[in-house]
Amino acid sequence: MEKNIIVALDLESEIEAIKIARLLKDEVYAFKVGYPLILNNGLQVLTKIASIANVIVDIKIADIPDVSQAIAKKISSYGVKGIIMQGFVGSDTMKAVREVSRELYVVAEMSHEGSLQFITPASEKIALLAKEVGADGLVAPATRPERIKVIKNIANLPILSPGVGTQGGSYSEAMKNGADYVIIGRSIILSQDPLQKIKEFYNGVRK
Ligand code: C5P
Repeated sequence: MEKNIIVALDLESEIEAIKIARLLKDEVYAFKVGYPLILNNGLQVLTKIASIANVIVDIKIADIPDVSQAIAKKISSYGVKGIIMQGFVGSDTMKAVREVSRELYVVAEMSHEGSLQFITPASEKIALLAKEVGADGLVAPATRPERIKVIKNIANLPILSPGVGTQGGSYSEAMKNGADYVIIGRSIILSQDPLQKIKEFYNGVRK
């Protein structure tokens, strides 16, 4: 079975992150690295994790096209597989980031409650625009699995789905509704036994 969990390494300690990355490297599709690791350790941490497994950088880029492109270009120079950006900034920014990224994933809808105020009402349009600019995938919430289905049907792109475990979403429900990859952070990385925990998601012990 293909490993389809992306572990969010939302940790401040590089030593701890590298330890978990080495432990889980054969059980993941990729590691997602974001602000906690980068702000505490510098961009070099990306190269270090990328030498262990695929890295998708999640700093949810959301600036004007030129600035967003400069950010994505810089990040891409650290050997990472993909970059996550916000879709609500519109297609000009998406195109600019697309040009300099190996793989581009666009957030169509977020997993938290506040997403319902502004992002969710626009998420179907965001998904279509992301498809038009050639994104490699979309981010859609496991906390609202029915939305995964809607977004997948609209754009027919691979779906990365966060919100499983700590935020209340379910791995199996996300998959049933069309997620291709599931992003899981705290419920794996903060557990006493991350290897056992990730295996429980794959073998269905943990829903
Ligand atoms: O710890 P937990 O499993 O809740 O982590 C989820 C990860 O997915 C976090 O890194 C968070 O930034 C990210 N994320 C999310 N919702 C989105 C996009 C990314 O929760 N729409």
